[in-house]
Amino acid sequence: MRQIPRSVKDLRPAGILHVPFRGAELLESPLLNKDTGFDEGERDVFGLRGLLPPRTSSIEEQVSLELEHIRRKGDDLERYIGLAALQDRNETLFYRVVLENLEEFMPIVYTPTVGRACQTFSHIMRRPRGLWITPADIDRIPDLLRNARPDSTGAGSAVEEVRLIVATDNERILGLGDQGAGGMGIPVGKLALYTAGAGIYPSHTLPVSLDVGTDNEDLLADPFYIGYRRPRLRGAEYDDFIEAFVSATLDVCPRAVLQWEDFKQHNAIRILDRYRHRITSFNDDIQGTGAVVLAGILAAVRALGRPLAEQRFVFLGAGAAGIGIARTVRAAMSAQGADGPTIKRAIVTADTKGLVFAARDQLDDDKREFALGPDELAFYGMGSLNPGDRRDLDAVVAAVKPTILIGTSGVPGAFTESAIREMAAHTERPVVFPLSNPTAKTEAVPADIMAWTGGRALIATGSPFEPVTVNGESRIIGQANNVFIFPGMGLGAIVAEAREITDEMFLLTAGTLAEMVSPERLAAGALYPAVSELRDVSRQIAAKVVCQSRDCGVGRLYRDEEVFDAVDSAIWFPAYLPYRPPA
Ligand code: NAD
Repeated sequence: MRQIPRSVKDLRPAGILHVPFRGAELLESPLLNKDTGFDEGERDVFGLRGLLPPRTSSIEEQVSLELEHIRRKGDDLERYIGLAALQDRNETLFYRVVLENLEEFMPIVYTPTVGRACQTFSHIMRRPRGLWITPADIDRIPDLLRNARPDSTGAGSAVEEVRLIVATDNERILGLGDQGAGGMGIPVGKLALYTAGAGIYPSHTLPVSLDVGTDNEDLLADPFYIGYRRPRLRGAEYDDFIEAFVSATLDVCPRAVLQWEDFKQHNAIRILDRYRHRITSFNDDIQGTGAVVLAGILAAVRALGRPLAEQRFVFLGAGAAGIGIARTVRAAMSAQGADGPTIKRAIVTADTKGLVFAARDQLDDDKREFALGPDELAFYGMGSLNPGDRRDLDAVVAAVKPTILIGTSGVPGAFTESAIREMAAHTERPVVFPLSNPTAKTEAVPADIMAWTGGRALIATGSPFEPVTVNGESRIIGQANNVFIFPGMGLGAIVAEAREITDEMFLLTAGTLAEMVSPERLAAGALYPAVSELRDVSRQIAAKVVCQSRDCGVGRLYRDEEVFDAVDSAIWFPAYLPYRPPA
């Protein structure tokens, strides 16, 4: 049977790797291939003579060549395709290139470019990755999981080693809606970030597409569409399918942490709540977003010098992300001692139909928990609202006078100039987070927000933006990127062997991240660390998760002094190890 390295930890003692493959098979195993990096001895021993040009290159030289090649391409989607091809050929080199150039390549491997990749997936996919499950498979999902080739190691079934699954039903891909089977780009890209950002070993990861069909007419009409060409499964059949997937995962991959990804609002919240105590799982769009945005808010609160409990929030967009952030903010305010009525008042939401209030016509159940009641409406001078009345953002801002405005509407330009000017009129330093992705969907661009607030705003965005010059000074725009949270959360949960991922863990990660913003960056307006600090951030977050898992009785009982060793030994660094044949 083929032996594949399980993690760097397994490799460290001897510093060498016993590899059972030879010749072309070795070159075609992405996790073991070194291309021209095989030395003379390895070329003899592994039957590689003649299969490689004579020159032996170091990984540093290979990185330079790959960079030259990728940077020469004129378009980000081409760069995405180039990087995907590298990942399929030589994963160690792929991760080295990405890790050493995170700021440059994260927007390619993940949002915003991955969004374009998902939209054109049927046309650009070369080598399928991960596991594709459709309703036709409902009775054989365990078999499919056993067939899984964890992250293209070429290892055949090593499914018991899967420690991290990212699964999507493709219905709400970034801000781009239903992308059908093309949504697979997201779990693939996300797991690449888990590896780049926290060093989770590639063969421990498994991307899963729960392809329940699509209601995207363009995809259904595309003759090359690679997915399950049916309307989306809904209702009890959909629930049965998700249940079958969870049961199969518990059965076949009992050590796996499951991350739900890019489900549409209603299913996202329902599925998270239904399964979080049964399988070690979390929803990044809800909880990861909640934590990363809370971290930015806590960093802003540091800059403002006024406690969280004194802030007032307006959320534009009450979907999975908006509700997730609001729930996290509520929990953080409560943890800081704010009382119930204060919290209830301080969190105001609005959606397509305007202000969310309890007596409103057409109110989804998901939105009820943050709907304003009669007391809050009266407090804000809106006591006379009738069920059919609408209050748009301008009116809500004028009445509520928020100190913090959060956008998760997916609607470009939704933060109007008038609303931002109104906010700035009564707040010294308006905190404005236009979080919708990709870039084209942002509620307002940072340069405009700065202009409308006289340069006083503290801004964080969902997509990356260039710094803005204000009165001759460069202001850094921090990116509320979930990547600051989920790799560390996943790593921590794996190391802790956590049975459950709790809300307290997310609160702790937010606090940790906020503390990691250096005073210099904060002074320059940045509410998040630099992306280049990601591995350090993930390590700190993982350690917090390990301690919290232990303390709340859901994880392994590490002693304090063991925690960082355990985390560090699970972090893989992409470098070539010397190979020897099996002992
Ligand atoms: P969703 O579809 O679940 O929710 C969207 C919400 O916006 C719904 O409540 C809808 O009613 C509301 N909405 C739509 N049009 C509106 C309008 N004109 N005015 C007010 N509200 C409107 O989607 P989601 O998962 O909540 O994601 C929303 C956006 O947030 C996406 O663009 C996504 O990229 C972004 N997001 C950003 C981050 C981040 O920055 N870290 C994380 C997650 C999601």
